[in-house]
Amino acid sequence: MQIDRRQFLLTALGGPGLASRKPAPAPLLDRGFARVTKIADGLSVTIADPNKGPQCLSNGGVIFGRHAALIVEGHFQPEGAALEIEAARLVSKAPIMAAVDTHYHLDHSFGNLSYANQHIPIMAHVQAPALMKARYADLKGIDKAPLLAPLERKVAQAANPDDRRHFQSDLDGAKWMFDAIDTVTLAYPTQLFAAKDLPKRIDLGGLTAIVEFHRGHTPTDLIVTVPERDVVFTGDLLFHRAYPVSFDADMNAWHGVLTLFAGYGRQMRFVPGHGPICGLETVREQVDILDDLRSHAEKMIRTGASVDEAERRYMVPKRFQDFDVSPWNWTVGAALQGYYAALISVKPT
Ligand SMILES: [Zn+2]
Repeated sequence: MQIDRRQFLLTALGGPGLASRKPAPAPLLDRGFARVTKIADGLSVTIADPNKGPQCLSNGGVIFGRHAALIVEGHFQPEGAALEIEAARLVSKAPIMAAVDTHYHLDHSFGNLSYANQHIPIMAHVQAPALMKARYADLKGIDKAPLLAPLERKVAQAANPDDRRHFQSDLDGAKWMFDAIDTVTLAYPTQLFAAKDLPKRIDLGGLTAIVEFHRGHTPTDLIVTVPERDVVFTGDLLFHRAYPVSFDADMNAWHGVLTLFAGYGRQMRFVPGHGPICGLETVREQVDILDDLRSHAEKMIRTGASVDEAERRYMVPKRFQDFDVSPWNWTVGAALQGYYAALISVKPT
């Protein structure tokens, strides 16, 4: 099955969750590709809608007090980050002190150029620039055909329609990423934090934002909590009605982060990397998905199956049937590889 780029984005980043979400009340700005809503004093949230354009792709927001405003997220294109700047200037007269990239992934950092052009510092984990260089800058302009060839071969040689669909989703994902890499003008984060520097409490003037490091989805995951408003921006540590993208993940550490989130209490509002604002139920669903993937890995290891075999044989449980699982290798495949590596390394010889 051929899917075009728009359909890929719909399934990979938006998914059926978008269709079922309640419209946010009275947006301050609605650009189609994203909607900015003031959800509390000192807090506006930007919810991306990949159905209507790739400018944001990821969610974000502005946290503002009397003295300063802090933007969350670098988004996918400069237009997405420009929307955050516009939102910050609309809701607050305070200067924008910085923007936070929750992690180095392209849909959370490729819009940074708008911040750089306005001399807005960009905060990120200390490893983010090196990963942006290695995974993106170093691939810019090089011939991608040899990188795509193995994926194309897998599609051509797939043994059944399910495998073909999964391999095709991997190929579409790679093409989408390479296309973005070849067209982006990267702007690297400028204010870097190592684990020892965090958490960092930022007094914005009557409102506090706390930047924390929690490795899970990538080695560079930052979350931004606003304790006085019971809101947390989780980046991609939390996926809404989607299998988590896991190719940079530490699966066991991620499980621990979700357990931490689960303890935040029922009043907490989570702004996930993609999809609508959600609550503890979404955290629990993601824990259940990780547990299901882990028990599949354990079972497959017991039977002596290779990790490729385990990936092919994974069945999405009925309860998650309408969740996004795309690209298959970025989600299911990568998670199983992570569990295989962890489980086999602790197995007695
Ligand atoms: Zn990500």
